[in-house]
Amino acid sequence: MAYYVGVDLGATNVRAAVADENAEILGVSKRGTPRGPTGIAVTEAVLEVTRAAFDEAGVDPEQAVAAGIGSIGPLDLAEGVVENPANLPDTIDRIPLTGPLSKLLDTDRIYLHNDTAAGVIGERFYSDRNPDDMVYVTISSGIGAGVCVDGHVLSGWDGNAGEVGHMTVDPNGEMRCGCGRDGHWEAYCSGNNIPKYAEYIYEEDTVETELPIEDPDFDAIDVFEHAGEDEFADYVIDQVNHWNTMGVANIVQSYAPLVIFIGGAVATNNPELILEPIKERIDDMVFINVPDIQLTTLGDEVVLKGAVASALTGGTGDRSRL
Ligand SMILES: [Zn+2]
Repeated sequence: MAYYVGVDLGATNVRAAVADENAEILGVSKRGTPRGPTGIAVTEAVLEVTRAAFDEAGVDPEQAVAAGIGSIGPLDLAEGVVENPANLPDTIDRIPLTGPLSKLLDTDRIYLHNDTAAGVIGERFYSDRNPDDMVYVTISSGIGAGVCVDGHVLSGWDGNAGEVGHMTVDPNGEMRCGCGRDGHWEAYCSGNNIPKYAEYIYEEDTVETELPIEDPDFDAIDVFEHAGEDEFADYVIDQVNHWNTMGVANIVQSYAPLVIFIGGAVATNNPELILEPIKERIDDMVFINVPDIQLTTLGDEVVLKGAVASALTGGTGDRSRL
């Protein structure tokens, strides 16, 4: 029997899953992502959950044939590391991944992807039709996409293709993005930025609202909870949907996918308020064939399952390679 392992390195948790050659999951493990002192602590956490997943599967790590990793970015693919991750403390400058994992597993077949690329590999592998042209979009604390065109999962030379959350959607640049630039999609629509955007709209034109705008704990959940009951909340959600549709339309125009799977907590927790409006409005913004737009089928396991699928299919999600 051949064994494969997938690793999901997120800003909050590190997870690993071990599967057999039929993609059956035999063991999983999870722990919090260390906040320091350095990137080495994160590498050690990755190795720890990997060992624990093999333990649970009752398999020796050296029996692994290949591994897939879906990771927070930015990546340096040539070095096999994460470099200065945006969502972890500054003391974490470099997280070695492929080298140490290769040593633990005694294999050179380690496929490193950014998390959204792992997401599209997972959606491709587990979807009924195994399409060659598809996109996975996450709308979460940030926004990003994994893109598969003509059967090729795009990575870019350094592994950072698909950072669509940093596409400029607003030429007036009213909102500043976490990356420091103005007018980026994610500055309006990510879970972290929706409350800031609501505050901005409120300050421009103060109206009656039940939203706890002044509360330091005001967050995106407050906005969605007031949907249908508060005119201002509805207006904010309408604006968010405008930018989301523009972002997704730009992806459609760029890559001509057959299907787009949308995941991430903002979308999966509010499909009626986030997914449905994109489906309703996208016709008016797209010039070419409009793809099927669906909610992710893999929930919050999409990156982990994508990493396993990557290990099983040489980094592609192509089921014919099983
Ligand atoms: Zn940005």
